[in-house]
This record gives sequence, C-alpha cells and structure tokens, in this order.
Amino acid sequence: MTTTSALLAYLRGLLPLDALPDVLTFDHELWQTMDDLWQRSVARLSQGIVVEWGGLLELRRGHLRLVRPVSGTAEGLRLVMPVGSRFVGSFHTHPDPAGHTGIGFSGADFTDMANQGERISLVQSGQHIFMLLRAEETPTNLDVAEWRSRMNTLFERAYRKQRSILAASLIANQAVCQDLVLALYYGHVFERLVEVYRP
Ligand SMILES: [Zn+2]
Repeated sequence: MTTTSALLAYLRGLLPLDALPDVLTFDHELWQTMDDLWQRSVARLSQGIVVEWGGLLELRRGHLRLVRPVSGTAEGLRLVMPVGSRFVGSFHTHPDPAGHTGIGFSGADFTDMANQGERISLVQSGQHIFMLLRAEETPTNLDVAEWRSRMNTLFERAYRKQRSILAASLIANQAVCQDLVLALYYGHVFERLVEVYRP
C-alpha cells in the first residue's frame, strides 16, 4: 500500500481539492506510526487513564511522514506548526476514559487547523480515522469559543437522534466542513479513507 499520489500532489499545492479521488490511502509506515500513537494513548485504559498523542505531518523524499510525536492530556493536545515550516498538517488521537471510540474533530481542532494553515488534519479514535483537507477558500482567524460552541451544539443535536458517537461526529463534522469550506474523509486505520463531504 502506498500513499495516494494525487493526495501527495494536493499537499504540494500541485493539484486542487476537487481533483482528488473519493477514496484515498496511506503507506503502511504512516498507518503504523498513527496506530502506535493510538496504542500509547490507551495503554492505561484499564485504569481509566488516557492521554492524547499527536505529531506533525511533513513531506519528505516523496513520502508523507508523521514526526515529532508529543503527548497532551486526556482532554487535549496543543500542536503548533512553526510558521513557514515544511509541515503540511497534523495528526492526533481522541481516546476516551470510558473506552468510547469514533470521536471526530472538536471545534478547537477545526479552528487550529484553519488558523495554522494546515492542508491536512487527521484524528484517530479507535480504528476510526477522520481527515480534513482545506480548500483555497477555507478561512483563517477563526474564534475558538464560537466554533467550540457550534460543534458542541451540532454534536448534541445529532447524538440525541442517532445515539451513536460515530454517526453524530460525522454529521456534526460535515456541517462544520460546509461552513468552513473543508473536505471530510472517513475510514479505518490500515485500510482507506472515503469522501464524506467535499466543497
Ligand atoms: Zn482533537
């Protein structure tokens, strides 16, 4: 398995978002690095302790790689992309102390991605992988409190109807992608990601 070449071209700025295929994948090494950070996140789950892990994504020698792994807390992780750097985006995990999985992007995740100019943002929660890709029209300078509130409202409304964290995450994440002109892909680790929404 190799990272979809059209995705690499998009990340280099050589291909527009609307030219991407609706199914994408990564090479085994990238999947493995992501899953290793997920396993670290839930290593003490039996004691009710979880920790978010993440890292930065860079293009090097034709590969998309996950580097500079760092841990945060159970609630969050601050990943700062150095300005003018070679990094194209970030990855982080969403563990839950009760063992729930399928937890998608938070409002703060959306604002971090948009404001830092990331082209790609990935979240892993269990076997579930969520991916955001930005368009030329994606705004910057978003207010974190505003988008945190909007995401929470959307998620709670969807959860009351769906009774599934995964289904509610996808509905709420898609609605915010429509607001912010972002693409949303979803799939399983070591497999592939399928387009959920593209502007
Ligand atoms: Zn997050």
